[in-house]
Amino acid sequence: MGRITLEGVAKRFGDVEVIPPLNLDIEDGEFVVFVGPSGCGKSTLLRLIAGLEDVSDGRILIDGQDATDESPAKRGLAMVFQSYALYPHMSVRKNIAFPMKMAKVPQDEQNRRIDAAAKALNLTDYLERRPGQLSGGQRQRVAIGRAIVREPSAFLFDEPLSNLDAALRVGMRLEISELHNRLETTMIYVTHDQVEAMTMADKIVVLHAGRIEQVGSPLELYLRPKNAFVAGFIGSPK
Ligand code: ADP
Ligand code: MG
Repeated sequence: MGRITLEGVAKRFGDVEVIPPLNLDIEDGEFVVFVGPSGCGKSTLLRLIAGLEDVSDGRILIDGQDATDESPAKRGLAMVFQSYALYPHMSVRKNIAFPMKMAKVPQDEQNRRIDAAAKALNLTDYLERRPGQLSGGQRQRVAIGRAIVREPSAFLFDEPLSNLDAALRVGMRLEISELHNRLETTMIYVTHDQVEAMTMADKIVVLHAGRIEQVGSPLELYLRPKNAFVAGFIGSPK
């Protein structure tokens, strides 16, 4: 579970074609990074996969099933938002439980998943605190916990670390990679940061003006960039 296929997927906002038709295959369990400069369409592509935007053309298949017209909830994918999307007045436990409450998951099952997520994320001692009483890294882990308890077939991250300081960012990258190793669940991770892409990805998708310039492993992109854009973008971190 967790194979995602885009067939001729395109997005227009009014007359502006932000994403020309593209094809992409994401294998089950892969860590895929969408990387490219600001405004190249990374978030839009992720939101199309999540079902938060409708495609203008094409089809999205999840595990071989046509999910193009499915609601976000039915797609079985979980978007990880930045930590400031937590509810400040709720405890960590309630923040993590929130999507399960919405989905009417039975209480004992909720507790089981909260305990498992808290353990995986080192949050066991913090469940009764509020987000304001946590560090930035802990808050980001709560945001991830809220996705884990949905037991999604894939996690979708949109620049989750961009508002953390540099040292914390390095630590959280490692934690997310470790989580991926442990869960073996598909992750799609959006970033404009080449270092993040090169260090985290099994497969990198380089986007430029809504087009896929190249898809490959970090080593492939580094050794055999297909064009000057990829060479420049991967070769020269900002
Ligand atoms: P990125 O995440 O790579 O920075 P986005 O996907 O947010 O890029 O945006 C890609 C392009 O689509 C940008 O030119 C942006 O202005 C445009 N865009 C995004 N969302 C909308 C929208 N709701 N309406 C109109 N244009 C949009
Ligand atoms: Mg974006």
